[in-house]
Parts: sequence; C-alpha cells; structure tokens
Amino acid sequence: MSETDIQLSSWAANISPSPTLAVDSKAKAMKAAGEDVCGFGAGEPDFDTPQFIKDACAKALAEGKTKYAPAPGLPVLRERLAEKYRKENGIDDVEAANVIVSPGGKYSCYLAILAVTSPGDEVIIPAPYWVSYPEMVKLAGGVPRVLPAEDGSGFKITAQQLKDAITPNTRMVILNSPSNPTGAVYNKEELQSLVDVALSAGIYIMSDEIYEYLLYDDVIHHSPASFSKEASEKVITVAGFSKTFSMTGWRLGTLVAHGKIAKAVGSIQSQTSSNATTFAQWGALAAIEEPDQSRAAIDGMLEVFERRRLMLLDGLNSIDGINCERAQGAFYLFPDISALGLSANDFAARILESHKVAVVPGEGFGAPGYIRLSYATSDEVIEKGLVRLKEFCGSL
Ligand SMILES: *Cc1c(COP(=O)(O)O)cnc(C)c1O
Repeated sequence: MSETDIQLSSWAANISPSPTLAVDSKAKAMKAAGEDVCGFGAGEPDFDTPQFIKDACAKALAEGKTKYAPAPGLPVLRERLAEKYRKENGIDDVEAANVIVSPGGKYSCYLAILAVTSPGDEVIIPAPYWVSYPEMVKLAGGVPRVLPAEDGSGFKITAQQLKDAITPNTRMVILNSPSNPTGAVYNKEELQSLVDVALSAGIYIMSDEIYEYLLYDDVIHHSPASFSKEASEKVITVAGFSKTFSMTGWRLGTLVAHGKIAKAVGSIQSQTSSNATTFAQWGALAAIEEPDQSRAAIDGMLEVFERRRLMLLDGLNSIDGINCERAQGAFYLFPDISALGLSANDFAARILESHKVAVVPGEGFGAPGYIRLSYATSDEVIEKGLVRLKEFCGSL
C-alpha cells in the first residue's frame, strides 16, 4: 500500500506532534552520538524521585499491589488529596468524590477539556501557552481561540482582554499559573478579576496548577477554585506529581472538580485508560502522608532552581539582542530574541547545529520571537551554554 492509500481520521490528520518533545529527542540523539550538547529543552526536573516515595512504591510492589485499582484512583489517595486541597489550597468542601487520579497531569488536562467541551465550542487559550492545550481542544472537537498576552504584561492576560474575547460559543478559558513556558505567576487580584469575568459569562476555567510549588521571590500560589463556592463549581483544577516530586515517568496526575464533572471525568477515564498505575499511586500516597519529608525534598529542589534561575537570567540579559523577564515560577525562562533578526525556529535549529545548544522555539507556544530555556539542568550546562549563546548571538 502506498502512503496515499492510508486514510487517517480527521482527528489524527489535524494533530501536530509535541514540539518540545521533538527538540528534546533531537538533542538526546546528538548526545547519544557522543556530541557535547548543552540541553535547555527539558521539561522535567533533573533530580531523582525522593527516596521515601520510591520506597513506598517498592513496598507496594513487594506486597503484590499490582492489580487494577478503582478507575478514579485509590480511595485513600483521593481522600488525602481532598484534604490537601481543602487545607492547603483553600478549596472548601472538596471530598474524595471530587478528586480523580489520572495517568499524568497531561491526561488530567485532556479529561477536563473532554468533560465540558462539545464539538464547536470555543476554548480561550492565553498565549504563550503550553503546547498541548490547542491540540487537546481540537481532539475534543472544540475550537482553540488563542488570546495573546500584551507586550510588557509579563505574559499575563487582563480581565478586559478576557471579557473582549468571550463569545456566545465560549465554553472555557485555560489558565496556567505558574506558567509553562513563561514562568509567569498571576497574583491574587489578577486571578480574582479573571475569575469574576469567567463567572459572569458562565464559562468554565481549567486551572493547570502543576507548578504550584515551584515559586521564587516569595510569590504565593492561589487556586482560583478557592475564591468562592461558585468558583469551585466552575473551575476544574488540574495538577500532578511530575514536577513537584520529580515523578515525570510515573505518570500520575490529579483533577479536582464539581461532583458532576468529576463523575463524568471518572467515566471517561474508566472507558479509556482505566486507573493510573496502582503501585505508582501507593508511592504518591507517601508524598502526601509524609509532609515533612516532602517539604524537605521540595525545598532542596527549590534552592537549587533558585540559584540556577538567577544565573541563567543574568547571563541571558548580558547578551546583546536578548531580553528576558524575571520569571517567578516553574523552571523556565522565556527570553525575547526578536531583536536578533531571525525567527525562533531558525534560531533554535541553527544554534543546535552550530553551537550544540538545545532551546525550544516559541512558535509552538504561540509566541514567535521567543525561546524557552529550562534551568532544570546542571550549573555546568548553564555556564557553558551561556558562553555558547553569547558566541552564537555575536556571530549573527
Ligand atoms: C508538565 C506539565 C503538565 C503535566 O505533566 P505530566 O507529566 O503529564 O504530569 C501539565 N501542564 C503543564 C503546563 C506542564 O508543563
């Protein structure tokens, strides 16, 4: 059969592969071939999962906890997560029934979108956005409506912008604070005003809080669902264990929503993936049941990230033609490279080729003219990478 005889579905034909994973795999292939690549592409912490979490998982395996679990998650883990969301995030009235444990934060996002989006519904996605949101909306039959943050806004949309973007077909807006790719963090007033607009328009909010613990400069995380009872009914909060506990390969996400939505999400999950890996959930339970050990693990990681963030920020801003905001969350910086006179795609392709530096071009995040650098990499790579970046930019 020839290629042209293969007929893909409209879903499959329309989807683009994840560009962040593409850069990362090219850089990894070059590294595997023995090349000395400075990788800033990674979207995951470079630490190992804390030992006490691994131990809890190993114990579960040894005890034979290797069978199906209830599709929405281990009951005890859902209980503990409900407690965490009440106490830590201030979302009152969350019970186990409102919590779903999924195979990854990414899948939680998709479930949230699927649960409320019908074909033709519009979903507002502020740009720069995480690469997967528009593709997930399309897979649900929805229409992504990209809403670019204005220049000089610190990559944040305003309530007025949101208000102007809402149409009778708008079903949901996606918020992601702290943000991937920009590291931007919305403060309470900003979030409150966005929530007010969404509630008065009657639309849902998906709040992706996967980076809720990765904060710098004493900024504080706020969960929009905590603002009022009405907000807790309209906000679907997604998160997971990947970024907080360096558990990207474990595939464990969470979702908190109104009972009716959580139930629908549970049904979708039961018919598509079934439960997230059983023994992985037992490991994750330890992360919640041992708050002191968890806090120590997170603080250790934050201390390292904080040093690298400032090192990379200063280094980038010392290069002619690069201008970088002081991002206060996650582990990314998102500098403006438009003054250098080439597209971000060209920049990323050329610097990987000639100077062996892997960065992710902004086009995939809806932000041409910018590149994303992850500082979830060693100090040595950051130092060496900055020298190469400077050389490359000087050569343009
Ligand atoms: C990493 C990430 C996720 C989810 O990651 P999983 O590994 O699937 O848990 C979700 N949203 C954003 C913005 C992310 O960067």
